[in-house]
Amino acid sequence: VNVESDRICVCVRKRPLNKKEMAKKDIDVVTIPGKGMLLFHEPKQKVDLTKYLENQVFHFDYSFDDDATNELVYRFSARPLVKTIFEGGMATCFAYGQTGSGKTHTMGGDFSGKNQNSSKGVYALAAQDVFTLLKHKRYSDLDLCTYVTFFEIYNGKVFDLLNKKAPLRVLEDEKQQVQVVGLKEVEVSSVDNVIKLIEKGSACRTSGQTFANAQSSRSHAVLQVILRRHKCLHGKFSLVDLAGNERVFSSLFRKYTYLVNECIRSLGKNNEHIPFRMSKLTQVLRDSFIGENSRTCMIAMISPGMSSCEYTLNTLRYAYRYG
Ligand code: ADP
Ligand code: MG
Repeated sequence: VNVESDRICVCVRKRPLNKKEMAKKDIDVVTIPGKGMLLFHEPKQKVDLTKYLENQVFHFDYSFDDDATNELVYRFSARPLVKTIFEGGMATCFAYGQTGSGKTHTMGGDFSGKNQNSSKGVYALAAQDVFTLLKHKRYSDLDLCTYVTFFEIYNGKVFDLLNKKAPLRVLEDEKQQVQVVGLKEVEVSSVDNVIKLIEKGSACRTSGQTFANAQSSRSHAVLQVILRRHKCLHGKFSLVDLAGNERVFSSLFRKYTYLVNECIRSLGKNNEHIPFRMSKLTQVLRDSFIGENSRTCMIAMISPGMSSCEYTLNTLRYAYRYG
């Protein structure tokens, strides 16, 4: 058994074409013929200018078609990691992809109420399973308490989404223990508690700024579900809604992509040489990447349209390296 692949799960999720894309007669260039396979039909042109589609095959642990629900995606991606934090380990789930590909839809869900299919995302579904496992006889004697933090990383700075976007300082001691000073940790005892916090934090994320949307596409949002035993850390699940990867060509973004790359690779290896401090995200998540009992899953989101071709290929090629 390959230890590394056991600890890293890579999935891909295709969203449906949206109304705007359909109005522009954009065509769907992604098909998912089976559980772990994805075909990308790349538009090409011959020397005589005849157009054709060239098939490219990608393999993942799971590939989810555009009719998959958040529940289904969750079940095969983040869900197997919930147990890890009960066993005293660290878990991380990343949502990766271009802006508009469905990262926030997958992680945060949709509680707007306007939507008939209002549904929980990975944040709430993971919390739901945490509360179920807390009652399980295997863990109920552990005396665990559950807490939630929700913060945003923008331009190398941390902002508390549960406290009016207050800017926070990150301190690191000589033992490389990282602390986000003053980060609000709210004790929760039900999924409804968690959903309220998601709504509060998400509203905080996107409101109050002229360029709020542009900003939220350039920021990472991290929701953590923390288990404590007599106030001491027992396990932590970090659920990360990454910044849009369309800036993958910019040097700053490349640096960050490289770091997440290295961090994921370092799972199960000697990882003394990872420059965690190079990026605020990896610095803050440092304790989730080290240690014996840490697991990660990445959900790569893709838009199906030909108009997103370049970004989609980017995402697929990046994610594929782990598949
Ligand atoms: P991102 O966070 O990656 O920028 P969003 O999650 O905000 O993208 O998704 C963009 C739009 O597409 C939203 O209106 C969202 O509701 C919709 N959407 C995304 N994924 C799906 C899906 N799987 N099914 C239906 N609608 C989706
Ligand atoms: Mg988003």
